[in-house]
Amino acid sequence: MKSTHLVLFLTAVTKLLAAENDVLHIAKFKDDRQAAVSLTLDDGLRNQDEFAVPLLNQYGIKATFYVIPGLTPETNEEAAKKKPGDHGGMSWVRLKELASQGHEIANHTWTHIPLTKIKDGQRIDLEPAKLDAEIGKAFAAIKERIGIAPFTFATPGNAISDGVRAVAHQYHPVIREHCERFGAWPPTSKDFTAAQANAMVDRYLKKGEALVWMMHAVTEGYNAFSSPAVLEDHLKYLRAKEDSLWIDTFAHVSCYTMERNASKLTGSVSAERAEFTLACSLDATVFKQPLTVVIPVEHAIDGEAHDQQSGEKLPCEIRPDKILVQVLPTARPIEVTWHRTKK
Ligand SMILES: [Zn+2]
Repeated sequence: MKSTHLVLFLTAVTKLLAAENDVLHIAKFKDDRQAAVSLTLDDGLRNQDEFAVPLLNQYGIKATFYVIPGLTPETNEEAAKKKPGDHGGMSWVRLKELASQGHEIANHTWTHIPLTKIKDGQRIDLEPAKLDAEIGKAFAAIKERIGIAPFTFATPGNAISDGVRAVAHQYHPVIREHCERFGAWPPTSKDFTAAQANAMVDRYLKKGEALVWMMHAVTEGYNAFSSPAVLEDHLKYLRAKEDSLWIDTFAHVSCYTMERNASKLTGSVSAERAEFTLACSLDATVFKQPLTVVIPVEHAIDGEAHDQQSGEKLPCEIRPDKILVQVLPTARPIEVTWHRTKK
């Protein structure tokens, strides 16, 4: 290929790639951010409540707590009798408070026994009735006690099989299967640093994917790291990257992703007006995350978005080069209008 041809070819490819962002589309992540991160904390440890929860709340970060209902005490007094790193060290009273602060309380089975194991080279699942009880009973307890059906499930020790997946999916839309360990390989993460965690976030920003952290103890217990400062320095880093990083619970991020993949956007954009509908094939009583629709524009100022049927105003953000509209995928016609500065 002659060099002039190569230049023409590369120009065409570049244009084609640019075109994807030049048209009306659904943002990969909320607010058209580049990547997402969810912090998940396993086993309901009191050590998390003492050291991680205050930091999460201080930095305004909502996390996911994988709890074990069969080991969860009723009251804080009972919980205080457990060791900091014991399973089920947060009471129902406490978990309810965390939920009201916006954290996700999610299912980590009734008693944290392995749901599947390898024996003599063969994978064996727990017998069906026990498997159903470990997952279903825990689901029902969280739904009843917290008042919100758990959206996600994590299996003890990450032991998974098709049989476990099938039962978990009867109750939960999402199973946590791909996550990164916040720490080193157990039993200790004493050498784990915030710089290592931050570098992982950078990798996910580069890939444009959703990072799910799995964390256990903070200062004392399984896989504890050297000090709460490791977590605090990482939370600071996440906040500093907020323009390009969506930080939210695993339920919210995975719900958005599933909805986005099951939604169809149709519409058109003209100089100062766009019209579109966004429809989703999933159950709207379960999938309730608004999606971000991106309208590419030039020199936009002061615009607004409306549901054309109800007249209801929708949240929208006007930026010079794009307008971001938050829409539930209800298939209703949406109209967006704006003005342009003369340039
Ligand atoms: Zn666990």
